This record gives sequence, C-alpha cells and structure tokens, in this order.
Amino acid sequence: GVSIRALHAYYGATHVLRGVDLEVAAGEVVCLIGPSGSGKSTLLRCVNHLQPIAAGTVHVGGELIGHRRHGDALHELKPRQVARQRAGIGMVFQNFNLFPHLTVLENLVEAPVAVRRLRRADAEERARALVARVGLAGREGSYPRQLSGGQQQRIAIARALAMEPAVMLFDEPTSALDPELVGEVLGVMRDLAGTGMTMVVVTHEMGFAREAADRVVFLDEGRVVESGPPARLLADPEQARTRAFLDHVL
Ligand code: ATP
Ligand code: MG
Repeated sequence: GVSIRALHAYYGATHVLRGVDLEVAAGEVVCLIGPSGSGKSTLLRCVNHLQPIAAGTVHVGGELIGHRRHGDALHELKPRQVARQRAGIGMVFQNFNLFPHLTVLENLVEAPVAVRRLRRADAEERARALVARVGLAGREGSYPRQLSGGQQQRIAIARALAMEPAVMLFDEPTSALDPELVGEVLGVMRDLAGTGMTMVVVTHEMGFAREAADRVVFLDEGRVVESGPPARLLADPEQARTRAFLDHVL
C-alpha cells in the first residue's frame, strides 16, 4: 500500500500540498478528485520521486520514499535505491509517453531487460501476454503512431505492468482521448482493479470512480477535504466544498 502523512510540497514559494494524509491499503483502488490546481498531480509525483517532499513522509510497500521534518535535511536515498523504488511504481500519464521509435513489443521489453535484468526472451514472452491482456494481440510490431490514442494508452498501461509494480498511479489517463476511446482504457483499468492491484487514480470520470473505486478522496487547495466510499461520497458528500465540486462535474 501507500502511506502518506502530513505531506507538504512547494513549487518555489507556492505551497501546493498543505498537510496531506492518505492511506491506500494493498489491493485498494482510490480515486483522487478535485479542482484544477488542487495538487492531485503533485501528490502522485511525490509518491514516485518526481517531486521533492518539503515535509512529511511517504511510504510505499512499507518503504520510505522520502521524508523531511522542519529544519531537518531531506532524508537522502541513494540514486540506486531511488531507481529501484521507482521501478516498483507504475505511472500512467495523460499523454501516453510511449517511446515513438520503438515498436509496441520493444516498448514493453526495454525496461524489464535494462532495469530488472530479465532475459530478453522472458521479457518478450511476458510482454506478449500483457499486450493480449489489454486487448491488442497482433499489434506487437506496430509503432505508437500507428495506434489510436486509446490503443496507445492501453499499451502504456501494459508497459507499466511489465515492471510488475506493487502500485499503479494514473494521472488523468483518459483526459487526452477522444470520447469514443475513453471506454476501452477505463475497461482495462477496471480489469486491473479486479486483479487486486493497488491503484491511485486521478480522474474526472465519475462513472469509473463509482464502479471501480473502493474509496474516493476529494482534494482541494492541497488538503484532503473528505474521503469515503464512492456511493456515499459522490451522492451525499459531507462538506460543502465537495458538493460544490460535484455539482460542477457531475
Ligand atoms: P489539474 O487538474 O489541472 O491537473 P492538479 O490538481 O493536478 O490540477 P497540480 O498540477 O498538482 O494540480 O498543481 C498544483 C499547483 O501547483 C497549481 O497551483 C499549479 O499552478 C502549481 N504548479 C504545478 N506545476 C507547477 C510547476 N511546474 N511550476 C510551478 N507551479 C506549478
Ligand atoms: Mg494534474
């Protein structure tokens, strides 16, 4: 799971995360919602070493990702530890980020061979199974530009899974897609949720949150305003700010 305590983060002088507490149990699917600028992406970035932690702690699978107390030096991990931790955390962004010059299969084989030291033949076998799992068997030799946005995003998910991550982080994985392609990506994510993967999903897809999330967390101005099961939080939020946001997006 993921454990975030009293987390603060800044961009320059801008105080973006203002004491976030969030526990995601192993196997839990949490959807993170909130207005633009509330800090959702920054929160995911803190879990994956993409954003410096100004104060507080982040643990993934019981391991410290980073922490700092006021006045203390940042807890320094060695670059090798950071690389190892990152390898165990899958991240899927809005904009696919596939390697354009590599085929689908090569996209999935690259990191397991380079980072996990898998034999190429084993990595290829796993990659083929993952391509099939996201519904794209037969497209192993295609280049990203030959795929639709929805297909590229499904391959991006497969590529993250190829590293056998303990946690998958998604940052608005469907918001760059044409509406007719959103469903196929959400379908892959729903299947993944069904396998017991630990997932933190930033999304505006309330239908997905309602059906696939164990819990929805509403973030505003760098703080968790409230959290709860989707059926309760989406239908009957406790806080006025949550209600105002939901009135706006639902
Ligand atoms: P969105 O829904 O628009 O993606 P978000 O909830 O993901 O928003 P963040 O991207 O985490 O929000 O941004 C939180 C705050 O940090 C915003 O006020 C934003 O302007 C600021 N911010 C984000 N990235 C940077 C950056 N690279 N430099 C400076 N400020 C930034
Ligand atoms: Mg964002």
